[in-house]
Amino acid sequence: MLSPSEMKDRMHKLAQNKDNIEGIYNYCDRWCERCSFTTRCLNFASSKDAPEDGPELWDYLHNVFEATMLMLDEMMEKMGLDPEEIKNLEPPEEYDPREHPLYKKVYEFSFTIHKWLEKNKPGENDTDVFDIIPGNKKSDSRYNEAFEVIYFYNFFISAKIFRALTGIDEDESDEIQTDSNGSAKIALIAIDRLIAAWSVAMEKLSEHEDEIIRFLIILSEIRKQTELAFPNARKFVRAGFDGQPLSEN
Ligand code: SF4
Repeated sequence: MLSPSEMKDRMHKLAQNKDNIEGIYNYCDRWCERCSFTTRCLNFASSKDAPEDGPELWDYLHNVFEATMLMLDEMMEKMGLDPEEIKNLEPPEEYDPREHPLYKKVYEFSFTIHKWLEKNKPGENDTDVFDIIPGNKKSDSRYNEAFEVIYFYNFFISAKIFRALTGIDEDESDEIQTDSNGSAKIALIAIDRLIAAWSVAMEKLSEHEDEIIRFLIILSEIRKQTELAFPNARKFVRAGFDGQPLSEN
């Protein structure tokens, strides 16, 4: 495994790739296996050697953290800023996104779904062991696809809505290209996909229809509340994904 200093040097080197789309990884869904921008994404390039799981993963993440801090110190120095100043920053004004009704709702929903998936589909996130799917439907790729989407985006939407709420700035309420809108946009895209995925699931899982209808109603409420909280989110242009990239190196 690379040391933090080696990782930092590698990040610098990878960042020189002229094909990179700056910041593309900030507002994507992190589903790299399905992404057509892997060759233009710094995050993908720098995480290729990440261990999949186990204690090695924590060591790796620790080194990534250390490497990032080293890089940040270097960047601040170049900008004439003193890294020590960060330590003396005043705590931010009290605002806790966890108390926001939208976050509370999406958080609770994600755990409700998590429990439902655990109860109905014991085993791993493996399309071959979806116990809930009747045997004759297991080969139906639409089901497998739908549940892959549900597993993938279930907690993703809470994380992105949390980030969107964290960055809310009253002074930027008319602006479109803000971090909050970008985070809210990818959350909305994931919510739309979840709604479609649950609809596919409901088509043939008639014995779970009532539960799935409830999930769909809650998802629709979360969708609406997210759009109301971030009215400009859908207009946000994500580098690479939405038409022209914002900037290319
Ligand atoms: S932009 Fe694509 S390759 Fe990069 S992190 Fe996001 S999903 Fe993965």
